[in-house]
Amino acid sequence: MLLREVEYAKPASLSEALELLAANEGARALAGGQTLINVMKARAASPDLLVDLNGLDELRGIELAPDGTLTIGAMTTYSALLRSAEAKARPILGEVCAQIADVQVRNRGTIGGNVCSNDPTNHLPPLMVAVGARMTIAGRDGEREVPAEEFFLGVYLTAVGPGELLTRITVPPGRKDGFASVTLGADGTCICNAAATVDGTVRVALGCVDAVPVLVIADAPEAVGEAVRAAGLTPPSDVHASSEYRAHLAEVLAIRAAREAAER
Ligand SMILES: Cc1cc2nc3c(=O)[nH]c(=O)nc-3n(C[C@H](O)[C@H](O)[C@H](O)COP(=O)(O)OP(=O)(O)OC[C@H]3O[C@@H](n4cnc5c(N)ncnc54)[C@H](O)[C@@H]3O)c2cc1C
Repeated sequence: MLLREVEYAKPASLSEALELLAANEGARALAGGQTLINVMKARAASPDLLVDLNGLDELRGIELAPDGTLTIGAMTTYSALLRSAEAKARPILGEVCAQIADVQVRNRGTIGGNVCSNDPTNHLPPLMVAVGARMTIAGRDGEREVPAEEFFLGVYLTAVGPGELLTRITVPPGRKDGFASVTLGADGTCICNAAATVDGTVRVALGCVDAVPVLVIADAPEAVGEAVRAAGLTPPSDVHASSEYRAHLAEVLAIRAAREAAER
């Protein structure tokens, strides 16, 4: 289906982008377009103005601090992250990005677009919660930082408010991470996924079981199954999986991800 007519702007700086977004109630940021253009074609979203972030070098790049902290620009594509030597400091990031869809989507899709769309089946929201990432949000009045646990508010809804942009994601040092999913075919959409990090306790974030990633904390990998059962999940049912099946998958995948994390 063809797009409805829409205005287009390609700002040359972050401040110009923020001005455009703040001044136009019907404006939407355009990152890789791999979600937004599809929902526009389906008429599920009809912005009046697309503010294209692709000219903003200040939103790209991956920096590795001496202590292992990674700072990733929101407009970093999955492919750029996969190729980055710096991102290998936290190997799970590249490993999970390599599982997202196909080369075309990975070349265009961005880490910022992935978390800002907060599609509950996306790979990165649970991963960001498990690793304890911090999200930097900019508006005309300055910046604020939000922990990933508080960033995801609902389906397609995040802490990024009107007139604001996610500018970067900060990932703390660590290597003991795991990820497990059941997808619709190879590299397909997740029916259920789990990301785990062992850092004293075991942090497991479950995807596809609620509107936002569900964080479960256990004392040890052996206690993860019990912790997931105690969380009392009531996942949605759809044509791909019943609620009961998703709840079962959540437990199995949480244990798998936690074991992978513990064995690293
Ligand atoms: C065929 C296909 C299969 C896919 N399969 C998967 C999959 O298995 N797993 C997965 O995780 N994803 C999958 N995706 C989605 C893909 O990863 C998208 O790239 C991602 O969801 C959105 O990123 P984007 O850069 O394309 O953002 P866009 O589509 O450009 O934007 C998405 C939303 O985020 C907002 N936004 C973007 N950047 C910012 C920012 N910096 N600040 C504030 N708001 C912002 C936009 O305004 C828009 O509302 C698939 C997509 C396709 C087309």
